[in-house]
Amino acid sequence: MKRYSAFAIAREALRYHTGWGKAWRSPEPKKSYDVVIVGAGGHGLATAYYLGKNFGITNVAILEKGWLGGGNTGRNTTIIRSNYLQDPSAAIYEKARSLYETMSQDLNMNVMFSPRGVMMLAQTQHEIRGFQRTAQANAFQGVKTEFISPQRIKELVPIMNISGPRYPVLGALWQERAGTGRHDAVAWAYARACSGMGMDIIQKCEVTAVNQSNGVVTGVETTRGTIGCKKLGILVAGNSGDLARMAGFRLPMESVALQALVSEPIKPCLDVVVMANTVHGYISQSDKGEFVIGGGTDMFNNYTQRGSFHHIEETIRALVETFPMISRMKMMRQWGGIVDVTGDRSPIISTTPLGNCFINGGWGTGGFKSIPGSGWAMADMMANGQPGPLCTEFGLDRFAEGRFIDESVAAGVAH
Ligand SMILES: Cc1cc2nc3c(=O)[nH]c(=O)nc-3n(C[C@H](O)[C@H](O)[C@H](O)COP(=O)(O)OP(=O)(O)OC[C@H]3O[C@@H](n4cnc5c(N)ncnc54)[C@H](O)[C@@H]3O)c2cc1C
Repeated sequence: MKRYSAFAIAREALRYHTGWGKAWRSPEPKKSYDVVIVGAGGHGLATAYYLGKNFGITNVAILEKGWLGGGNTGRNTTIIRSNYLQDPSAAIYEKARSLYETMSQDLNMNVMFSPRGVMMLAQTQHEIRGFQRTAQANAFQGVKTEFISPQRIKELVPIMNISGPRYPVLGALWQERAGTGRHDAVAWAYARACSGMGMDIIQKCEVTAVNQSNGVVTGVETTRGTIGCKKLGILVAGNSGDLARMAGFRLPMESVALQALVSEPIKPCLDVVVMANTVHGYISQSDKGEFVIGGGTDMFNNYTQRGSFHHIEETIRALVETFPMISRMKMMRQWGGIVDVTGDRSPIISTTPLGNCFINGGWGTGGFKSIPGSGWAMADMMANGQPGPLCTEFGLDRFAEGRFIDESVAAGVAH
């Protein structure tokens, strides 16, 4: 794998850019691997990368039914933050946020991590109390956040109307080192690094069955033939239920569409991420100048990767009081992804009833931010056969034991 550097750009400029190779190989699948990962989204690729980097396990295949990064990883609104209420959540999201800070250097590819700051608006008395509580919890957890006044919000976001008639802005939970990253660059950077370590990324290869013998996984059936493995990792977001069924167990998880939209590009006027949980909308401005806007999930299960039309209207209506300029802007594109939602709105990173089969899912509407931390924890669990400190609390057993990690209210709009 060629190193990307300023010197390489200069050298290629002199020879008309004829020397760039492919970022990753597209090999034919081998008969078997030590580890098979299903799903080449951010979580699958990050797991493979840390298996190689932290544990020297490189006889790995990552199987993807479509194209890598074509699932939710390439469809999200790229918010990265770690201001969660519960201790296990703060630990894994803060680990991920800190890995994002050095990801471009670590993977030798610019993932455009932009720690521009994320604010979650308080627009009711209840939210003021809730966010003050979260700020206090974050202080104990070592996550730097603060509760800021309406005046400070207006200084940070001059285009915001803070004295709306229905929901005036009363304060905000502010995380200065939170921000955004380039979603597909994250997938591409991990893919390139995995391929560089000799791992096989096999696209257009759908897993259709999980093979087992005496309660232990032995491999998978795919649209490109049978592939054997000693360990299997399932990281397929909205398709988690399908893969679990193939492996012979059920998950407490639902698949629903979450959608986002972008406006026409305009001059830079918003350099932080704003989330409004009460009215349910959030907004940031991309490097291209488009407003990136998202809201909540559809209220019914589906697999369409589109989302319903009325949700677009609801999301815009939610934001127009605080950002009146939106009413005069054209919206250019809209898309959806199928997110995997658990009852307590926290992920599952777990061993499973099938031996040597591990699952990572349930990140729902907020799993882009956690990709590096989740991959780190999943690789640790797959290498050692049992959950390590970052994911012990996220096991499947918590649903049987009633040991929920409830982030549904604490995290507000769950992005
Ligand atoms: C509109 C939208 C906005 C979002 N905004 C944010 C945000 O701002 N911040 C944030 O942190 N998170 C956000 N999220 C959530 C985030 O995108 C996801 O939690 C995260 O990307 C999940 O990554 P993943 O690797 O688990 O899944 P994916 O990226 O979906 O990857 C799973 C892969 O598995 C593959 N697969 C499925 N079944 C099979 C099979 N049988 N065989 C082989 N391959 C299979 C799929 O094709 C897919 O590529 C948003 C999501 C959406 C949809």
